[in-house]
Amino acid sequence: MNYVQKLSGHELAPTKAMMRGAATILCVLGIVGALTMGEGISLQGTARGKRIVIAASEALDGKGGVLHDTRIVIEAGKIVAIDAKAGPVDYDLRRLTVLPGWIDAHVHITWSFGPDGKNAGQGGTTPEATYAAASNAYATLMAGFTTVQSVGSPADIPLRDAIARGELAGPRILTAAETINGRGPETGTPEEIRAFVRKQKAAGADVIKIYASGGMRSGTMTLSQEQLNAACDEAKKLGLRTLVHAFRDAVRAATIAGCTEIEHGLGASDEDLKLMAERGTYLDPQAGLLLETYLQYKDRYLAAPYYTEEGFAAMKDLIPAHQDFIKRALKIPGLKIVYGTDAVAGAHGRNAEDFIHRVRDSGVDPMSAMVSANSLGAEALGMSDQIGSITPGLQADIIALDGDPVKDITAVRRVVFVMKGGVVYKNDAPGSR
Ligand SMILES: [Zn+2]
Repeated sequence: MNYVQKLSGHELAPTKAMMRGAATILCVLGIVGALTMGEGISLQGTARGKRIVIAASEALDGKGGVLHDTRIVIEAGKIVAIDAKAGPVDYDLRRLTVLPGWIDAHVHITWSFGPDGKNAGQGGTTPEATYAAASNAYATLMAGFTTVQSVGSPADIPLRDAIARGELAGPRILTAAETINGRGPETGTPEEIRAFVRKQKAAGADVIKIYASGGMRSGTMTLSQEQLNAACDEAKKLGLRTLVHAFRDAVRAATIAGCTEIEHGLGASDEDLKLMAERGTYLDPQAGLLLETYLQYKDRYLAAPYYTEEGFAAMKDLIPAHQDFIKRALKIPGLKIVYGTDAVAGAHGRNAEDFIHRVRDSGVDPMSAMVSANSLGAEALGMSDQIGSITPGLQADIIALDGDPVKDITAVRRVVFVMKGGVVYKNDAPGSR
């Protein structure tokens, strides 16, 4: 059985020695990160448990509600009170729109362009690839994403851990480590698949990523119902969620298997989507950023066997197909649609662009778009008690936009304030200290 084959560009299994190398480089990067963070960064803030008060004239609570003229009190990295009378104010974010830090359910944080400018995929653990991954993490955080789920590289693990230790500026990362790449019977017996899931758990995976079908054009199933059942059942037994790359028939099969979330989903019928809604299976579709990125950087991506001229020609038609798919999904009562961009090389730091596609091109209500990346995104990660809304007891992941995304969705491009776990990483807010 070989799970580590090259498939869909999601390849590479670094050796232990390579991973140690990456960890060493990230330690060095930690120092560089601290030096380049600049003003407004106070890593000591959380360590000392300092009390911080934010003044907001308009704050989206992450659950679809709006708080007016209030103050958010933070202690030891957590929100401890919403109290209009609290003071003194440390950060005056009035005139801006305050909301919880966004959650991107699907990124490939290590994917970068290599030194030759070409797509390096997940890039391995060379110094260039490692710095690029750290840069991607920084860009993602600066864009207002305080938590991401990165699905498809064991190289995520040392990056996740360096960020968690506060040595690098980046979003909170949940990772899948190695992925189950469906290849029909060759993928393995159900027992072998269960063993592979256990191996990922032992390696530190937060979630299991499964490729149950081919790419968006062919989309044929690459795992049997039995294989999918084994993967998602074993993960569940271990307390892990499962994310399944699925098009067409694989959507129904993954839903029946009890998997947590369907990635992409194009080609699913209304009946499939209704079954997802019934079972509480989350849907994570993409509205435009991914294909737009591929087309924008076509010269950098063009390479056999996955990125061909033929494939690029088909992408243009796939953009409206994705938009129509989301429009159709919106009509399914109770279907839980989360926000995941599938950010690859060239898309990191532009994660918010998919909000614009969703609202402008797919008819998603702007407040629902925000909630999909806040409380609903947190629920899909099983982290509602930690992130995703402005609620006492939760992590102080707070961002501010110059503009109101409910009135003008392009405001998502103007992130001027970023706090994660009570630490301010960006503060371009006028009138703030
Ligand atoms: Zn992906």
